[in-house]
Amino acid sequence: MFEERIAIVAAHPDDETIGLGGQLASMRGVFVIHATDGAPRRRPDWKIYKQQRREELLRAMALAGIPEDRCLEIGMPDQQAAHHLVELTCHLSRIFDELKPSKIFTHPYEGGHPDHDATCFAVHHAATAAIWEFSSYHRNLLTGEIETACFLSPITPARIVDLTTDQLARKQQMLACFATQQETLHWFHPERECLRRAPDYDFTQPPHHPPLFYDAYNWGLTNQEWLRLARQAESRIGKCLSL
Ligand SMILES: [Zn+2]
Repeated sequence: MFEERIAIVAAHPDDETIGLGGQLASMRGVFVIHATDGAPRRRPDWKIYKQQRREELLRAMALAGIPEDRCLEIGMPDQQAAHHLVELTCHLSRIFDELKPSKIFTHPYEGGHPDHDATCFAVHHAATAAIWEFSSYHRNLLTGEIETACFLSPITPARIVDLTTDQLARKQQMLACFATQQETLHWFHPERECLRRAPDYDFTQPPHHPPLFYDAYNWGLTNQEWLRLARQAESRIGKCLSL
């Protein structure tokens, strides 16, 4: 029997749970694909940390009924995905060719984290099916603070899902699996998940007037560098995809 496949493409282990954790257990045919291993290489213990993040992910996914063989990892170093846009896109393209997903979920292009934007870029260039988005985080344009559980731009209408008590309880258990990420997980509102069809993006322009959220952090690059890398990748990517 034909099984519909859904590809969830996230930058880091935990992004999928933040974005869709309450709904994962009721989705069928899910494959979770991570662009990075979640371990910044400036950490002296990055090899152990990478292993911890993988184990946390597998425990969380098991709670949603997603087995290890459906948790695929491309394995870019954390904070480096934007420096490998062509490679990331080609790798994803090969995964999509094999899985033939009918629906793909990923991050919006919002300047929250450079790895999120890089993952979004690669999905949009490699996708062979409809792209949907789960909310992540970005800079609130009025306050400059982080904003979560909503999208930056209202270009496309969003579907807001208020989780049931059971869904929320499972999501809380899943989030608790990410022991190494507890400090940042308090930024989020687990009771609410937002989805929408992905709009078209121009990745060679900033997602909003700078500064972006990640410009305030040492997360691998600035928006100026992103623009240069995105333009360079767009000029090279057609060749890679036609191979
Ligand atoms: Zn992330």
